[in-house]
Amino acid sequence: MKDEEWSNFCHTIDQIYQSTKFIDDGHVADYIPQLKKANPNLYSISVYTLDGREYHIGDSEYNFCIQSCSKPISYLLALEEHGLEYVSNHIGKEPSGCKFNSFRFNDENKPFNPLINAGAIMACSLIKSKERDDLRFDHIMNTWKQIVGENNVEFDNTVYLSEKLTAYRNTALANIMMENGIFPEDTDIEKTLQLYFQACSIKMNTKALAKCAAMLCNGGIIDSKKVFSSEICKYILCIMYQSGMYDYSGRWGFDIGLPAKSGVSGAIFTVIPNFGGICTFSPRLDKNGNSVRGVRFFTELVKYYKMHMFDQFSSNMESKKISINNETIYDIGTNKSYKELETHLLKSGEDINKTDYDGRSLLHVLMDEKKYDSVFVLLKNNANYKLKDRWGNSLDNKQCIKIKIVLLYYFKYKMTLKSYFSRWK
Ligand code: GLN
Repeated sequence: MKDEEWSNFCHTIDQIYQSTKFIDDGHVADYIPQLKKANPNLYSISVYTLDGREYHIGDSEYNFCIQSCSKPISYLLALEEHGLEYVSNHIGKEPSGCKFNSFRFNDENKPFNPLINAGAIMACSLIKSKERDDLRFDHIMNTWKQIVGENNVEFDNTVYLSEKLTAYRNTALANIMMENGIFPEDTDIEKTLQLYFQACSIKMNTKALAKCAAMLCNGGIIDSKKVFSSEICKYILCIMYQSGMYDYSGRWGFDIGLPAKSGVSGAIFTVIPNFGGICTFSPRLDKNGNSVRGVRFFTELVKYYKMHMFDQFSSNMESKKISINNETIYDIGTNKSYKELETHLLKSGEDINKTDYDGRSLLHVLMDEKKYDSVFVLLKNNANYKLKDRWGNSLDNKQCIKIKIVLLYYFKYKMTLKSYFSRWK
């Protein structure tokens, strides 16, 4: 994104923040005693883009407990540990059409999806179930730390205790699931609920949750670290799209058109494909349990920017292609000389590891085009040769060994790459 576009975007965020700041409809959640104490006037918005830009306004340093915003990550941890097939034996992937803490289950007596309480409790039962309690929570906490940064996550013990003390409904849900025989064998309900309440009591601010949304947007990678595979990120994004906003999910999908997750503490984090993540926090909730200002903010935002996922549907394929400095990866790979790459692309600070819809990076295109001099320039600039395209090809395999040998020879004998590769065939 160009600097000017970015500053216009931030200006719009500012404007919407100012115009929604005075809305005081709705009520702070009160069924968990500690949540009742929240200051209803807090309000913040944070943006975290795929190219690492950040913008924050309002009380963005304020740490709140994330409540249901923990559910996507708990599901990802269960998926990472057991795979989709096993997890799907315990948790469905359908919208429930009921309240988040409803006693209704699907035809197989399983929770409808991982974003309602029953599904999230089930997901927690699948996380490192053979380990000690402290290690299980450590695993969840460490994952959050990896995503949002070591010092940006806390634990709210008072919320945890208060939720545990008043957990009549969640305990009933867990008991029904036990009665239905859908927990994995040897599940300890009490420990499972404990882990679920702990996950809900993790604390962070909108800066951190926006970064989590950006990680999901980026196929599980953040700060150059792979936290989750892009495959399972895709799964949770689908479920967030259809079930992330409680009983408002259908309307949200229609009006806003973005995967999102809401929590009763007043947070909403939203993933904007090819752009990044945005998180809002404001504790007053509407009758569906979503933050009033948060929903209003996103409703306004999509009036200014075509961020709805299906906005792009009507435009042609050309505009869908992922570009670097407005040129498609394919065009750069085929048309640019290695000198141009060196002088323009590498100096522009653009991400040279961007991939297109087929998962092909510039390196993939350049290898196919046999433009080894350009490949050399990119590798010299630390391009990621491990990236796999849609068909699973990376330069990490034999091709890359070729390149590494060539680099060695290049330095040793200063021979031209072309002459070296022509001998290879
Ligand atoms: N911990 C809360 C509960 O179990 C989470 C609910 C929510 O944020 N929707 O009720």
